[in-house]
Amino acid sequence: MSLKIVKQNETVEADVLVVGGGTAGFVAAIAAARNGAKVILLEQRDHLGGTHSGGMVMMIRSMRHMRAPKSAEHKKVMIASYESSFEDEQLVFSIAQEYIDRMLAIGAAWGITGQATARQLFDPEIAKWVIEQMVVEAGVDVWFYAQVTDVLVSDNTVRGVVVENLKQRTEIRAQITIDATGDGNICAAAGASFEFGDPDEGHCQPLTLYFVMGGVKLEDTLAYIRSHPEEFSPEYVSTVMKLREEGKPFTVLPFKAKIKEALQKGEYPLPFGLEKVNADTVTYMARPMFRNGKFRYDLLSHNMDMAYDVDATDRKELTRATMGMRDIAVRMAAFYRKYVPGYEDAYLVHTAQVVGVRESRRIVGDYTLTKEDVLAGKHFPDGIGRYGSVVDVHDKDGKQSLLLAEVGGSGWFHIPYRTLLPRGISNLLVAGRCISTDNIAQGCTRSQAACMMTGQATGTAAALALKSQVAPRAVDIEQLQKVLASQNQLI
Ligand SMILES: Cc1cc2nc3c(=O)[nH]c(=O)nc-3n(C[C@H](O)[C@H](O)[C@H](O)COP(=O)(O)OP(=O)(O)OC[C@H]3O[C@@H](n4cnc5c(N)ncnc54)[C@H](O)[C@@H]3O)c2cc1C
Repeated sequence: MSLKIVKQNETVEADVLVVGGGTAGFVAAIAAARNGAKVILLEQRDHLGGTHSGGMVMMIRSMRHMRAPKSAEHKKVMIASYESSFEDEQLVFSIAQEYIDRMLAIGAAWGITGQATARQLFDPEIAKWVIEQMVVEAGVDVWFYAQVTDVLVSDNTVRGVVVENLKQRTEIRAQITIDATGDGNICAAAGASFEFGDPDEGHCQPLTLYFVMGGVKLEDTLAYIRSHPEEFSPEYVSTVMKLREEGKPFTVLPFKAKIKEALQKGEYPLPFGLEKVNADTVTYMARPMFRNGKFRYDLLSHNMDMAYDVDATDRKELTRATMGMRDIAVRMAAFYRKYVPGYEDAYLVHTAQVVGVRESRRIVGDYTLTKEDVLAGKHFPDGIGRYGSVVDVHDKDGKQSLLLAEVGGSGWFHIPYRTLLPRGISNLLVAGRCISTDNIAQGCTRSQAACMMTGQATGTAAALALKSQVAPRAVDIEQLQKVLASQNQLI
């Protein structure tokens, strides 16, 4: 018997094809299917949720208007308490809220049914399962291990994609394709224009490989924080102690004195791509994980800026950066054990399944949302939803601390439908962190609630376009807004 693989060629058809089953893609697929389309959802990995679940970014920012800090000291208090805050107007509902409610019902999220906190905390492992349930219930045909390797384009119109491995080559022909790959892979391959990183040098925000540490005695860590108000600020200390007492979520900030000490001894890992660490501006946060209805004070997820000036769309660069970040996670665990009270016997449980990419391509659409639009809280006639999260831009060379700016005007801006239409290409929509914005506006729209909202808008628009037999660009905006509003999304 010959062992040589004979490759099978097949062609499959769908009304709507969603590429990327991440934060935006799963919502896009549900929305398209619920609005009557036959949907295929392609995901190159073995789970849905992308950065939201496998990336372990376990806080949805923000389904509410989110206040920005007024000073450096205030910033510490705000960062500590966003996860427990129900203050300020909630702006994002619909599928995002339905999903959170399902998570709340099984102890996989912290909060109150029907509402979301300013940074909604959830269990990223159970998220994968709940998302699968929702997508399958909507009737979506999900394909895992389906990496798109080519895009079928003619006359500037996307006709579908190719998914290929050593055994099968499948052409999926679709009437409308939604690019929810985070990196804008399908748009770029189809010939759409894109921008990359900052306008000066094209540098992107740093990458992060989330890591989890177990065996932490957090009460000892909190005792250290309590006895060092000069290091953390008295307001931060009292906020965290109160949140802990009330059983609410909170964030542990960097141990700057310990970092300085370790730096002097050469025992603090340098981020990938940086030659120096500034202990005063370093960005990292640790949080007790919420699992099966309880905060686990011995199990903390850690998020720190780890890899600088990386092009995440370049396989070689991303490989080097990934190895660099894993190396940092292992060495950070050693740093914590040696320097941070409460961590003496702690261990690295795992690093995230998916590398956290904050920024890569931004597809140029029919309209590009700007920093000015966001900060002024601009309303647009083709708005698909209201958004009011803080603008969160991480410094590209680690010299300054995190920039958090607040949306002005009425506290929210519209995301225009035109930002989801790649300029010059037909039958293609884009959702998620790579929609058409400038690099500062992206610091706002890359947040998960915005990704979910653009996912829902693209899925709904694709289904409406098919019903009316028009291209996505010609969808009746008023009708799209009416359908979204009827599904509980504020317009
Ligand atoms: C470290 C970090 C911390 C963050 N913190 C927060 C936070 O606290 N709160 C918040 O709201 N946001 C946060 N963000 C931002 C937010 O999590 C992301 O911007 C958002 O989740 C991206 O969603 P997406 O759908 O665009 O991409 P993803 O969720 O990454 O999904 C893209 C999917 O496409 C798939 N894919 C890609 N290419 C292909 C292909 N060729 N074929 C098939 N499948 C493909 C990928 O496997 C992936 O599943 C953070 C981001 C990072 C990196």
